[in-house]
Amino acid sequence: MASKKRLVSGIKPTGDLHLGNYFGAMRQFLDYQEEYESHLFIADYHALTTAYEPEKLRESIYRVAAGYIAIGIDPKKVTLYKQSDISEHSELAWVFNCITTMPFLMRAHAFKDAEAKNKEISVGTFDYPMLMAADILIYGADVVPVGKDQQQHIEIARDTAEKFNSRYGQTFKLPEALIREEVATVPGVDGQKMSKSYKNTIPLFGSKDEVANAVMGIVTDSDGEFPEYVYEIHKLFRGEDELKPLYGENKSNYKALKEALIADAEKVLSPMREKYNALLSDKAELEKTLVAGSEKVKELASEKMMDVRKKVGVSLN
Ligand code: AMP
Repeated sequence: MASKKRLVSGIKPTGDLHLGNYFGAMRQFLDYQEEYESHLFIADYHALTTAYEPEKLRESIYRVAAGYIAIGIDPKKVTLYKQSDISEHSELAWVFNCITTMPFLMRAHAFKDAEAKNKEISVGTFDYPMLMAADILIYGADVVPVGKDQQQHIEIARDTAEKFNSRYGQTFKLPEALIREEVATVPGVDGQKMSKSYKNTIPLFGSKDEVANAVMGIVTDSDGEFPEYVYEIHKLFRGEDELKPLYGENKSNYKALKEALIADAEKVLSPMREKYNALLSDKAELEKTLVAGSEKVKELASEKMMDVRKKVGVSLN
């Protein structure tokens, strides 16, 4: 039997998971768990670029772990682990730093956005794409399912693999981004990309009231008949063949449409919420799952780093 192709992706433990994470990336993890050999990690070292409260970070790590399992990821089929448990990711990122130029990384959107907003940028934020390249390349990923905001980072990972391979000989596979066009950028309640940093999210595991409050806050045009942003989010939960007549019959009746969205969302979200809350009540079990996952991938990562150390010349034999 041909061996399965490998899938690698991760989620940052910063704040609560939202519908953008779920429809843009996590649904793909779920749909592909049989087809690919999947490695899903919690990107805790990436989170350090914005998370400065240790207790909150620890809590968010458990929440992402619970979130993966609550949506239906089976830890027996998929390897779940914490990025910081595999120190080879950061070690490889250092090697990549040394073959990458500053102007190349200055082209990254995340850096340019932060600069445009006059934010104080940490070296970690600037260097984020190198750690992400290491996260992916160290396992020889074939595919990386992500939302569109991560597309450029996958291109940077590919470029970095090519640069390393041409300097030191074939070592890294070039990964492909898997982006679902219809959910490439899930909009938030204000119509911009849903993002924790824009404070426009609808929580994936929030209580029914929290979800309802967020939906009631979706921005609508007071003059128009068609609430575009409500529709865009509703589409995630119900087919357009059913939505079009519903929206046609309720022109300008935003309240009824938002209530219909809340009811449709609740059908999908409530079973996952229940599972999520149950999983979070046994943190020792979540920790066990992550430790078992890191033990599985550690060997792969350390083999690759041995090869890299030999190729660059720091290994003496
Ligand atoms: P992050 O929370 O930045 O670690 O993102 C985890 C995953 O969710 C990444 O693959 C992102 O591309 C994806 N994602 C985050 N927000 C959105 C969004 N609004 N639409 C589509 N995908 C998203």
